Amino acid sequence: MLRSVILAASRSSQVERLVATAPYTRDVVRRFVAGAATDDALRATRGLVDDGLAVTLDHLGEDTVTPEQATATRDEYLKLLKMLGGAGLTPAAEVSVKLSALGQMFDEQLAYDNARAICVAADAAGTTVTLDMEDHTTTDSTLEVLGRLRKDFPSTGAVLQAYLRRTESDCRELSSAGSRVRLCKGAYKEPESVAYQSAHEVDKSYVRCMNILMSGDGYPMLATHDPRMIAIGEDRARWFDRGPERFEFQMLYGIRPEEQARLAGEGYTVRTYVPYGDEWYGYLMRRLAERPANLVFFGRALISKK
Ligand SMILES: Cc1cc2nc3c(=O)[nH]c(=O)nc-3n(C[C@H](O)[C@H](O)[C@H](O)COP(=O)(O)OP(=O)(O)OC[C@H]3O[C@@H](n4cnc5c(N)ncnc54)[C@H](O)[C@@H]3O)c2cc1C
Repeated sequence: MLRSVILAASRSSQVERLVATAPYTRDVVRRFVAGAATDDALRATRGLVDDGLAVTLDHLGEDTVTPEQATATRDEYLKLLKMLGGAGLTPAAEVSVKLSALGQMFDEQLAYDNARAICVAADAAGTTVTLDMEDHTTTDSTLEVLGRLRKDFPSTGAVLQAYLRRTESDCRELSSAGSRVRLCKGAYKEPESVAYQSAHEVDKSYVRCMNILMSGDGYPMLATHDPRMIAIGEDRARWFDRGPERFEFQMLYGIRPEEQARLAGEGYTVRTYVPYGDEWYGYLMRRLAERPANLVFFGRALISKK
């Protein structure tokens, strides 16, 4: 219920204005977002890489509605990749891209062309790209674009969401050699016809999908903060004899940093997903929807006079 309300608010421009102008919003945003500028992203990446973590960078922005916005997003990624390469932060850092930010909603070919340009730049910088997955109406289109990109850039990563009923089958399709697949639970509000609704069902699906990916030939990227899913991931790594070069854990910037350090300390590959940029609103609201404790923290900061 609370999750639905927050996810609905994530689409409201009135609530966005209210949140953006509240006095201590910036402090809350800073916990989950590296900053507004490319330099902020680089600084955060340097810190994480020095701490032994890998990174994937996300330039915030989604639901782009004009070709000019899509091109501007592409150009920001091209600039970022050049800077990452120049700073010696590749291949430790890769980038995560939302096709909706590249024009998918109004021109799939434009989104493909923009994504391809980003793959070319990533390849030149010695790293790769992962295509984030958005709501279920975009899944087929995103997997179609992924297939086209992988012809020239086979290391392009996919994201599959365990809450979707179709995902076990997609995991089977995408568990071939060299296929990088991030498995997450899923962050959007989806109807019962396509998605499991209870946390328990989603968790069971996550484990089934993890079993398929960890026993397959691809490169699984287990994106979760859930202690139970992480423990099962560690167990499957032992069971299927997967060393740190054959799978990785992924978590979001600012969430369970001690656990990220613990896993890296135990020799696992751990990648932190680092968002940056001005358009933090939708991203922040999805994080709040996931965890009421974050909402309390946020509410306190919003009303605080200190
Ligand atoms: C690297 C990465 C990339 C992602 N990419 C996508 C994507 O492309 N598309 C998409 O739809 N979703 C994406 N997500 C979001 C994902 O789908 C989930 O919404 C999100 O990760 C929350 O699910 P969870 O597995 O962490 O567990 P949850 O079910 O949210 O939480 C389970 C347990 O994890 C622990 N936990 C969770 N959050 C915290 C916290 N803040 N502090 C302490 N403990 C906590 C608690 O013990 C909690 O009970 C991504 C997530 C990650 C980590």
